[in-house]
Amino acid sequence: MNNMIDLINNIKNTLKNDEYIENEMMKKHTTFRIGGPAKVFVKPKNVNQIIEIINLCNKHNVSYFILGNGSNLLVSDSGYMGVVIQIHQYNFSNLEVIKNDENNYILRVGAGMLMRNLSIEASLLSLEGLEDIIDIPGTVGGGISMNASFLGTGLIKPLRKVKIITPEGVLIELTKEECGFYHRGSILRDKKYLVIEATFELKKGNKIKIQKTMTTNTEKRY
Ligand SMILES: Cc1cc2nc3c(=O)[nH]c(=O)nc-3n(C[C@H](O)[C@H](O)[C@H](O)COP(=O)(O)OP(=O)(O)OC[C@H]3O[C@@H](n4cnc5c(N)ncnc54)[C@H](O)[C@@H]3O)c2cc1C
Repeated sequence: MNNMIDLINNIKNTLKNDEYIENEMMKKHTTFRIGGPAKVFVKPKNVNQIIEIINLCNKHNVSYFILGNGSNLLVSDSGYMGVVIQIHQYNFSNLEVIKNDENNYILRVGAGMLMRNLSIEASLLSLEGLEDIIDIPGTVGGGISMNASFLGTGLIKPLRKVKIITPEGVLIELTKEECGFYHRGSILRDKKYLVIEATFELKKGNKIKIQKTMTTNTEKRY
């Protein structure tokens, strides 16, 4: 318990008042609206803050949990006696578009962006390859970590690399091959790597065709 008190005091010195909450009910952050209080719930604004929080958890021997959109989570009524680190559209949904050439674009995407929003953004740019994720609930980080897909190839085919923070608090970049994807999982998930940003390579396509594929995917689902 002393560890937790020391940790909370350290977090208070590290984050602003609106960046952490004590005893936050997890049911407010899960799609199924279940879950008791998380001892500390943090909403970091940048990578340095995440690293600092992970280092503090390690120092005080307190566990932490990475939360995305909460769409694939069942949290017990007794809650979570640790630190929940939220990577969501409110704090990590940056999008950078880099033109390689007329037909080839690089998208650098914050892990908190919702998969649906990424699919829409790509379609508006007439970029093909992310039509399958239009109706998968959750963030890009959560989706990559569990290798989410629907009918087609999901996020992984156009993925080139990911920026992650290791459980030791080290920021590194991994190629797609180094992520070790398998059906509904990856090394990222197994090793508790926190995904912070993903880089995709997409080809220019026909906007109408892309949006039709998205509509067809939605129709097949419902
Ligand atoms: C109605 C419904 C339909 C679905 N349909 C599909 C489908 O068609 N295809 C499919 O593949 N999946 C489907 N899913 C599952 C979906 O892939 C997951 O809900 C989604 O990937 C979870 O993302 P999230 O951001 O909500 O993660 P959360 O639910 O918040 O967390 C889930 C896991 O991901 C980890 N995580 C979250 N963010 C990160 C991050 N930034 N870095 C590292 N780890 C992270 C968490 O620690 C946790 O272990 C469906 C789920 C629901 C509820």
